[in-house]
Amino acid sequence: MTATMPTSMSPATTELFDHYVVPNYGRYPVALVKGEGSWVWDDQGRRYLDFFPGWGCNLLGHCPPAVVQAVQEQVATLIHVPNSWYMESQGRWAQLLSERSFGGKAFFCNSGTEANEAAIKLVRLHTPEQRYKIITFSGGFHGRTLGSTTATAQPKYHEGLGPLVPGFAYAPFGDLQATRDLIDEQTAGIMVEPIQGEGGVRLPPEGFLEGLRELADEHGLLLVFDEVQAGCGRTGEWFAYQKFGVTPDIITLAKSLCGGIAGGAMLTTAEIAPSLRPGMHAATFGGNPIAARAGIATIETIEREQLLPRAVQIEKRFRERLQPLVDELPFVHEVRGAGVMIGLELLTEGAPIVAACMQRGLLINCTQRTVIRLLPAINLTDAELDEGCEILSSVLREHEPAA
Ligand SMILES: *Cc1c(COP(=O)(O)O)cnc(C)c1O
Repeated sequence: MTATMPTSMSPATTELFDHYVVPNYGRYPVALVKGEGSWVWDDQGRRYLDFFPGWGCNLLGHCPPAVVQAVQEQVATLIHVPNSWYMESQGRWAQLLSERSFGGKAFFCNSGTEANEAAIKLVRLHTPEQRYKIITFSGGFHGRTLGSTTATAQPKYHEGLGPLVPGFAYAPFGDLQATRDLIDEQTAGIMVEPIQGEGGVRLPPEGFLEGLRELADEHGLLLVFDEVQAGCGRTGEWFAYQKFGVTPDIITLAKSLCGGIAGGAMLTTAEIAPSLRPGMHAATFGGNPIAARAGIATIETIEREQLLPRAVQIEKRFRERLQPLVDELPFVHEVRGAGVMIGLELLTEGAPIVAACMQRGLLINCTQRTVIRLLPAINLTDAELDEGCEILSSVLREHEPAA
């Protein structure tokens, strides 16, 4: 990665990382120092248009004013209280999430992988003792703790980590018959990303999620939707399941949930919720007052500024801007997506495209080597969208894919 990127950052920062930070991330040689909306600045004063703000966490862009204000107020009043006490903001946040989903209850944590761990435990606790297996899908991504890593049916994330957590079985994404074939008397649940994010912005084939719901009902399984990436308004619905009209028993959320502040949640029905009984699960910082205030401010901003319909407009405009590239360039295969979750699949490596865009001041992402992934802010303006697509288009038009 380093070789193809413009190096602009101060060498002192690189040195700190070289000496003191565990090298488990590939990093661009750029240090970001400031952000506002869909724009970020690096430590050399360069400005970038950000089509991937906060790796999908900054749904409202960088430093959304309502979230900043809520956090500033809260941090000066009460930073943290444990879950052995009541706090009004956590209860109110749970209410807002419940009213916008299926009317159930929330468990709060700090990240996506933790939300999925809670879901895995709840599935095992709620179903009869002999049932513990969970079926997940190829190309899915559920996080990095061992349970979620095992749930992630991608061999590259398992290398060298074994033995993994027992009780997971993998089916090809979209294959209902293969899913049915995996179900036995030990199966407790099915866990799926309704739209695969890291897997390449892949939408479920027609009827797939409905079929999973039917299989779950038929066999007494719990259906878990991992909406850590697709949830919280990104698709133009509050939750991705609403887009497909298939209601799961459990949803997991994180990334956009608190407008850029760390926070995660698991939502489930009032009937299932008591199975996560006192003493069986916890998160010290889960649902803390700062996250709660940020989460509430995020929901309120999306509603006040009517941003759910805006996500749909943004998707339409992206499609209009990117489809001509599919028609024109033989190595650009397909544009797909839902709301502010856009994938442009190439038939060539995407890394040089990401590097060239960065050089021209546009931040994008590539996943699964060939899928350009955009998770832009839900309040991106038309002018910003056009400017970024102009850069991406010219980079692609000038690109000569390796033979
Ligand atoms: C990012 C992601 C996770 C993991 O979330 P963390 O907050 O990094 O633990 C889980 N599931 C999906 C679908 C994700 O996109």
